[in-house]
Amino acid sequence: MDKYQILKQYFGYDSFRQGQEQLIDGILSGRDVLGIMPTGSGKSLCFQVPALLMDGITLVISPLISLMKDQVSALNQAGVHAAYLNSSLTASQYYRALSYAREGRYPIIYVAPERLLTEEFLDFALHVKIAMIAVDEAHCVSQWGQDFRPSYLKIVEFIDRLPVRPVVSAFTATATREVRDDIIDILMLRTPDVVTTGYDRPNLYLEVRSPKDKYGTLKEYVEQHSGQCGIVYCLTRKLVEEVCQKLIKDGYSVTRYHAGLSDEERRRNQDDFIYDRAAIMVATNAFGMGIDKSNVRYVVHYNMPKNLESYFQEIGRAGRDGEPSDCLLLYGGQDVVTNQLFIENNQENEALDPLSRRLIMERDRERLRKMTFYCFTNDCLRDYILRYFGEYGSNYCGKCANCLSRFEEVDVTEIAREIMECVESCRQRYGTNVILDTVHGANTVKIRNYRMNENPHYGSLSEIPVYKLRQVMNHLLLKEYLAVTNDAYAIVKLTEKSKEVLSEEMPVVMKMAKESPRTGKKGAGETGTGNGKDAKGQKGKKISGTENFSGKEESMFEKLRTLRMEIARAEKVPPYIVFSDKTLAHMCILKPKTKEEMLAVSGVGEFKYEKYGQRFLECVRAAAENPENGGGSS
Ligand code: ADP
Ligand code: MG
Ligand code: ZN
Repeated sequence: MDKYQILKQYFGYDSFRQGQEQLIDGILSGRDVLGIMPTGSGKSLCFQVPALLMDGITLVISPLISLMKDQVSALNQAGVHAAYLNSSLTASQYYRALSYAREGRYPIIYVAPERLLTEEFLDFALHVKIAMIAVDEAHCVSQWGQDFRPSYLKIVEFIDRLPVRPVVSAFTATATREVRDDIIDILMLRTPDVVTTGYDRPNLYLEVRSPKDKYGTLKEYVEQHSGQCGIVYCLTRKLVEEVCQKLIKDGYSVTRYHAGLSDEERRRNQDDFIYDRAAIMVATNAFGMGIDKSNVRYVVHYNMPKNLESYFQEIGRAGRDGEPSDCLLLYGGQDVVTNQLFIENNQENEALDPLSRRLIMERDRERLRKMTFYCFTNDCLRDYILRYFGEYGSNYCGKCANCLSRFEEVDVTEIAREIMECVESCRQRYGTNVILDTVHGANTVKIRNYRMNENPHYGSLSEIPVYKLRQVMNHLLLKEYLAVTNDAYAIVKLTEKSKEVLSEEMPVVMKMAKESPRTGKKGAGETGTGNGKDAKGQKGKKISGTENFSGKEESMFEKLRTLRMEIARAEKVPPYIVFSDKTLAHMCILKPKTKEEMLAVSGVGEFKYEKYGQRFLECVRAAAENPENGGGSS
């Protein structure tokens, strides 16, 4: 067999995705490789396909038990014998698995890094032929990343103990330079073939809103997405509890996850979400590492996270199957304050010396500021993220709320000048709030204490709504017409550019939304919104990929989902491991009648066909004949 046959037969796919083939070819030619590809781009296949072609065992190192379990069940479902060795096995299960492994029953074995140097495991590893070590989530070796795991440092020591050095392949979605260099150095990759496919996740629709009523907005949103799976991230445990309670009260299928819950409850809730027993997961950022669930259709941030690294990682859990999925951030001014408090009180930094601590705080404040700007930019949101990570976007993606909104260019020179003059007149001593309150003419204790009510600019812009003043202020900061100091006080300072504005040499023009800003949804994940369909109130719309479905196909999709759920229950695996949403949607479009036609569906391989093909063919046939009695399941 060759790599294409493996791809078709076991995984049911016709072609490789970007980067996969190069990495697979590298491995097969005996080279070390490093694959840097975004979440959901298909990194697993890059080591699984060659593992099935190489002579010997592939050991996959993975940081989390849940990740291993998931991938091993997916492989077994596809007809590949794989096993995992970690602390979730009892001693007798562990020894049984090892003895099967010795007999050569598994071409692929997942192992926790902690196990590598144990006596039993070494005894096994030294007596079999190991063709490749694949290090998944390889950024865990780096202290620069957010998920450093000391046990990952054992990998090299383990490789050193082997009589013959196998091919070493490493994979991650984290692409900063420091992390990349760390992976190569620490894992001692030998002139690796480094393949980077870029950060973009074109199937994610990006949107930011600044609603007055966050819960109301969230409720409306989950209502519009009923029947779909989604994650709602909150900044604090308290908010997780609150939002979760409200959603339960409003009748939604919800569960929750945060570090304050018992291990037992966290595991249970996570499983409820993964097995589609609960549609919505409300969680802090403690949730998500190792979640491979492919059909998460939306990620809502109830609060703005602390930086774009976190945001990108968290929205990365949406749409792993490549189908259109939505990422909505609900911004509120309080989020900035909460994040600032986290930065000031970061316990993790307590052990550091004062200088390093100060530098880290400065870095964190800067990251928070860039995150805040993301919430205020009126330019392409995708472009903003890509630039942040050092890539060049196209200025216009056509798949974010900003690209799809109608903006107009507004001349705000007068407002800008007034704000700058106010900054100047109080000798650049105050933060944004004091400045804005002054020009707006707010009558607060703070303003009176600072005697800003006596400032010549006090109340000079009283007729302009505060939200608009804030937009202008943010624009001025974003475009460096003004700057703020990088300390806890964030004092507004003039810049070179302010001088040009003040001396009337330079006008300030910015984009402002034409209609009511950031309400309603603009064509989820699709540029063409002229199909007369409004996302609002469209209950029962199941996955975005099914948008063009007829009623008949929709009911077929429902029936296939029900069948998938039955099978998943019987096999005790998550539904998406039986078939992904994408595969079911493809079935509805192709409506296969024969084995050959079924095998042409993306995601249906020989082995899965043997197991379930007949039942799905039958289901498609019945649904095609009897479209009316469908829908309304699970
Ligand atoms: P990553 O580890 O990069 O986040 P995964 O390996 O979990 O991503 O793959 C994400 C999804 O993409 C899985 O559902 C996988 O089956 C699917 N996939 C991978 N490669 C292909 C391909 N060549 N064609 C179609 N789907 C693919
Ligand atoms: Mg992965
Ligand atoms: Zn865009």
